[in-house]
Amino acid sequence: MGDPHPKLEAHAVTRTFGRGTKAVHALGPVDLKIAPGEFTCVVGPSGCGKSTLLRIAAGLLRPSRGELTIRTAAQRPAAMIFQDYGIYDWKTVQANVRFGLDIQKVPRREANTRATDWLTRMGLADFADAYPAALSGGMRQRVAIARALAVEPEILLMDEPFAALDAQLRTILQDELLALTQTTRTTTLFITHSLEEAIVLGDRVLVMSARPGRIIAERRPPFPRPRSGEIRTTPEFTALKSELWDLLRGEVGTEAAA
Ligand code: ADP
Ligand code: MG
Repeated sequence: MGDPHPKLEAHAVTRTFGRGTKAVHALGPVDLKIAPGEFTCVVGPSGCGKSTLLRIAAGLLRPSRGELTIRTAAQRPAAMIFQDYGIYDWKTVQANVRFGLDIQKVPRREANTRATDWLTRMGLADFADAYPAALSGGMRQRVAIARALAVEPEILLMDEPFAALDAQLRTILQDELLALTQTTRTTTLFITHSLEEAIVLGDRVLVMSARPGRIIAERRPPFPRPRSGEIRTTPEFTALKSELWDLLRGEVGTEAAA
């Protein structure tokens, strides 16, 4: 079945911040393999090292020990989407979405066509010439998603991308991302606070311990693809959510007591 090599592979990755008595052991050791096309969600208590793991995956931070490798062919990069969107207020929506393509030196005409295509898919075609300040939070996050996907990344790294949105919008964007990633089959590492989000989107859900974050459990939501947001109302969904919550609750308690 296609490429047998994991797209992302972590071996005994740890990260410590600071030194001596001030050292904070933030993460690990973490071992992780993500297969091509697999959508992996990570949930864990606040401060357990989730963002640290993602920043290491994105190459923004080095592990203190261990190794994390991303296998991408040719020019196709990993793309990262942050909770705070990370879009540029001084660029138009179109220019924001084109940004990664400009960096890849995609010819301007093709870059504009691809940017327009993604803006249309995200329902933002009418806002191509607007500046982000004129957009709602949900629209800004759609711009960030369009920008990340426009480069057709081999790996998508998302750090609580919907955390700043209200519950309704969050559900809508979850469903959009679900439909989108089932079409593109982009390998994805997705960090979230929300168990519901993790179950809806993930081929598997990894649960992290309190700091230093380690992977303490793995579950595969039992919903065949293509799936839709309707799985939220099934008994299997509720059961898995409460099972994950039980796992997580132990860790949240640990963190609060520490
Ligand atoms: P999460 O994303 O799971 O909430 P983080 O990965 O952001 O957690 O942080 C894990 C721990 O590492 C926290 O205790 C945080 O304060 C600490 N930490 C993260 N980044 C730094 C940094 N640059 N310098 C010092 N401590 C950091
Ligand atoms: Mg974080």
